[in-house]
Amino acid sequence: MTWSYATHYVCDGCAKPFELHRPLNTCPDCGGLLEVRYDLGRMKRELSPGMFASRVPSMWRWHEFYPLRDAANVVTLGEGGTPLIRSVYAGRQLGLPELYFKNDALMPTGSFKDRGFSLAVSFAKELGIKRGLTYSSGNAGSSFAAYASRAGIEAAVLVEYLANPLKKSMIGLYGAHTATLHFESMNDITAMLAEAVQRLGLYQFVNFINPVRHEAMKSYAYEIAQAFDWKAPDVMVHPVGTGGGIWGAWKGFGELLELGWTDSVPRMVAVQPDATGPIVRAFRQGSRTAERYGDSTKTIAQSIAGDAPIQKGERVLSAVYDSGGFAETVTDSEILEAMRWLGNEGIAAEPASAASLAAVKKGVEQGRIRSSDRVICVITGTGLKQPSATQQAVPESELKLNADFGQLSELLAKLWN
Ligand SMILES: *Cc1c(COP(=O)(O)O)cnc(C)c1O
Ligand SMILES: [Zn+2]
Repeated sequence: MTWSYATHYVCDGCAKPFELHRPLNTCPDCGGLLEVRYDLGRMKRELSPGMFASRVPSMWRWHEFYPLRDAANVVTLGEGGTPLIRSVYAGRQLGLPELYFKNDALMPTGSFKDRGFSLAVSFAKELGIKRGLTYSSGNAGSSFAAYASRAGIEAAVLVEYLANPLKKSMIGLYGAHTATLHFESMNDITAMLAEAVQRLGLYQFVNFINPVRHEAMKSYAYEIAQAFDWKAPDVMVHPVGTGGGIWGAWKGFGELLELGWTDSVPRMVAVQPDATGPIVRAFRQGSRTAERYGDSTKTIAQSIAGDAPIQKGERVLSAVYDSGGFAETVTDSEILEAMRWLGNEGIAAEPASAASLAAVKKGVEQGRIRSSDRVICVITGTGLKQPSATQQAVPESELKLNADFGQLSELLAKLWN
């Protein structure tokens, strides 16, 4: 049995192939982004959709679709395989009977970043890497720190100054070195990291600069297609920061189509905050590249507040255009409403994550999402990690009582009449 069908990297910039099992970040020749390729022809002959159902319920069920060579190097906390929950509230409000939530708030460190870091850290371990660096708006740092600690890799995490204190503490709790990172624009961060690759040869875990992390996000496609008996949904809605999540899911759906296991792909919807949203601006202009835009400090959606995507957002924009999807922004007040709606579903999401539901609402109002569509909203992170926003969405009740039956019956009469 072949454990991985990955074959090599190809550079987005110069199209040169590179050997997989080298500690590469970006292309050594032109600095372009590297993409992992697979022998899909062989996978089609040797694998079948039915063979996965009895395996471990984590994202490692799909190991043939990742570049890790040896099962012994897997660093896992049980990530992936999260519930796909049918909406009972928002779907009714919106007239969308087939609205589902893929609830990655249940992941080991509370965000969907765990998929990417389980794979990227396992792969780094396989390469013998002992030290690694990432930058984080909060959640990536926790994931990296947790998996790196388990793998014996020394992690350094540069945490955006905008991240809330709890997220910063959690990164330290999981055992990483941290420093608060001040910057004007995401462009500065990208430039600094590119220089660190070149001059220090330091292996990095930032999405896309690390060419392996987003491969794990393909597991969304496999898990969702499997849950619907190997049918792709009509619409997949993703909050977008770096775009690793949406790009990975899109790549996964593309692979399933090429393997002939599904017969369609979803329309991919990229969601960003109104305050930044460079991808959305590019989409509105019909452009395939996004320029710096907006102010990251002006939204509660911390995890998707980047003003300038890596590689000018080319991958994300191509997922949106090539799938026939769209890109949309949402305001903080729309996000807060979506957090309350999700609460009625039994899901506590952080603002960036609730942005996907806010965008579904907009998409329905605009006629871009139809009532017959099967729609998947990715819940990327838990509301527990951004408590101030959860408190903002639903302020604490001011009602009070003593432990006295008279007061209780008075209160209940007030609440339920
Ligand atoms: C990182 C993050 C995102 C954005 O994901 P990208 O892969 O960077 O586009 C969305 N939601 C949450 C909760 C996140 O932590
Ligand atoms: Zn190149």
